[in-house]
Amino acid sequence: MAIEIKELDYIYSQGTPYEKHALNGVNLTIEQGEFIGLIGHTGSGKSTLIQHLNGLLKPTSGTITVDGTVLFSEKSSQKLIRQHVGLVFQYPEHQLFELTVYKDVAFGPKNMGLDEKDIDQRVCDALKKVGLSEDIYEKSPFELSGGQKRRVAIAGVLAMRPNILILDEPTAGLDPAGRDEILDEIKRLHKKEKMTIILVSHSMEDIANYVQRILVMDGGKLILQGDKYSVFKEIDLLEKIGLGVPHVAKICNALQQKGWHMGRTVTTLDEAIEMIKNNR
Ligand code: ADP
Repeated sequence: MAIEIKELDYIYSQGTPYEKHALNGVNLTIEQGEFIGLIGHTGSGKSTLIQHLNGLLKPTSGTITVDGTVLFSEKSSQKLIRQHVGLVFQYPEHQLFELTVYKDVAFGPKNMGLDEKDIDQRVCDALKKVGLSEDIYEKSPFELSGGQKRRVAIAGVLAMRPNILILDEPTAGLDPAGRDEILDEIKRLHKKEKMTIILVSHSMEDIANYVQRILVMDGGKLILQGDKYSVFKEIDLLEKIGLGVPHVAKICNALQQKGWHMGRTVTTLDEAIEMIKNNR
């Protein structure tokens, strides 16, 4: 399912003293099956942008087309779009509210008007996909660890069988092991289920390790996009807008300035090992 954004502007509380121009002339195309990383300093417009993609926010001006349907046009059905574009919010606590894990994940499919059997199938499928076993089905979502809560929130969205999955900081607050597990699950969904994934993250390491294309936002504008090599090459620009590059990219860049031969930009530990070997 492809997404096309044209000249998107969004202004919060327009015409009031609190007016805030949060998105400014964003143009972007995302192809079916891409794994996209969205980065930018706090306040740069990331969450405003992703809330447009499933119709939670209506553009002040500009258009968003999802799989040929222009959102908020007369023909578009917002409900259908929300099923196709699944959004997992940053804090799972905000998304979980039922008494049991099972009921929580069943909420979306139930709202779609499916019968009990289909709902059950979807709930079990979704929980399995995020690696949760049956012994937690009847637990309260609030008894679970941070990582498990995150998985339940993702399962709740997957149960609607979206084609596009958007995750806002899915690893925030998790320890490194929990973080890698969640990201590996997401990678699997991308590969096996051929889902389009948009990952919002503050971690440049995670972005370098997982995504295919990076979008960089600053002050409501999309200021840079490309593969990780072309984006992480722009160390000065990224630092100027309050972002970094993966630590390893910075170290290797310093080595290059001391005369080491780097070839293309180093973005991950494996690439750094390769580069060091080649310089021996
Ligand atoms: P990010 O997700 O990158 O942190 P946001 O999309 O949340 O950025 O915010 C973009 C800008 O819009 C910021 O200046 C923020 O303060 C402002 N903003 C976000 N939500 C609202 C709101 N509900 N009302 C007014 N301004 C908002």
